[in-house]
Amino acid sequence: MVPTYAPLPLVVASGEGPWLWDSAGKKYLDFAGGIGVNLLGHCHPKVVAAIQAQAARLCHTSNAFLHRGHIEVCERLSLLCGNGQGDNGQVFLTNSGTEAIEAALKCVRRYQYLRAEKGHTRTRLVTASGGFHGRSMGGLSLTGQAKLQEGFGPMLDDVVHVPFGDLAALEAAMGPHPAGVFLEPIQGNGGVQVAPEGYLSGVQDLCRRLGALFVADEIQTGMGRTGKWWAYEHDNVHPDLVAVAKPLGGGLPLGAMVAQKDIAAALDTGKHGTTFGGNPVACAAALATLDVLEGDDLIPKAAALGAGWMQRLEALMLRFADRLKLAPADIPGRVRGRGLIVGMEVGEHAKAIRLEATKRGFLCVLAGPSVLRFLPAVVMDESHLDHGAEVLADAMEAVLL
Ligand SMILES: *Cc1c(COP(=O)(O)O)cnc(C)c1O
Repeated sequence: MVPTYAPLPLVVASGEGPWLWDSAGKKYLDFAGGIGVNLLGHCHPKVVAAIQAQAARLCHTSNAFLHRGHIEVCERLSLLCGNGQGDNGQVFLTNSGTEAIEAALKCVRRYQYLRAEKGHTRTRLVTASGGFHGRSMGGLSLTGQAKLQEGFGPMLDDVVHVPFGDLAALEAAMGPHPAGVFLEPIQGNGGVQVAPEGYLSGVQDLCRRLGALFVADEIQTGMGRTGKWWAYEHDNVHPDLVAVAKPLGGGLPLGAMVAQKDIAAALDTGKHGTTFGGNPVACAAALATLDVLEGDDLIPKAAALGAGWMQRLEALMLRFADRLKLAPADIPGRVRGRGLIVGMEVGEHAKAIRLEATKRGFLCVLAGPSVLRFLPAVVMDESHLDHGAEVLADAMEAVLL
């Protein structure tokens, strides 16, 4: 294996709902959630049944042909990402979040190319420092983290990074020929940073005024995780393009770019493509995932569970404030998020706490060097939150002597 990952010392063998088991039979409560993929937990019976049935029927066709599942996933996402005025987007299915971002990037650049005026093609892409949009050369160019870009240059031309949440800085960076703005409504990888109130609507207004396209990266925040289908809905905005992935395929690789119709037209026949994107088995899993999220009314539940988890983390922060060397005034803002994407900023001990929690049967991920990130499944209940908070408290007790 290429040494790019430093996996925790456990070999995962099986999962059910919010639980995972390792190859030695040890049980873990999973707040890592496959880094945001397993929103319905592991092996949801309806998703498993859909995958099994589709695998037995047809696994792959390529996009040289239509298949029903592909059409239905596009229909569902189109309806879910309307522009608020009755216009629904058009959808391009991919195998990953990065590919959804790549598709959006190409769509934005080509849309602006087709409407260039007086020889001026708008190419400038503005995005936020600390953001994460993938690791391909396009995605990495948008990803505002110098340590991830180091040694891979030159990056894509005419991409500018500005501080997240600072509308004036964003406006100043647009330049005379802005093409588009890419933002996560909540930066996941970058430390669970929630866009300040009014920021996204300010960005949308600015984009409309300057003729730039507004792209929401909902790969980590979308599909109901924050208590609404898309995190941008909390700010009442309607992005021109939306990137979707992680939970979409119910654990199978599936992503999507949704673009409003006149924008999607820029990717006409032959302008983009994918062999596997929208594969029948992943589409069947996605349809089952959408059905369960809707049918079991799980999106309001994500909001309620997330609020309950944040309360428990706030109590932990207070309890360990002294040992984290925090004054009461330093505590607010250290537990942050929305619904089932939550971060807790614990400083230099984050890595050690995570490792200790893992040993005690509780999984989470990091978001940068100082933040523990939790992406639990919506199939949990209060008892899982209680158990998780207890194990995390034990781990903090052990690390923060
Ligand atoms: C995970 C993620 C990506 C990249 O998705 P992959 O499926 O890993 O390619 C892009 N943007 C955001 C916000 C993400 O969380």
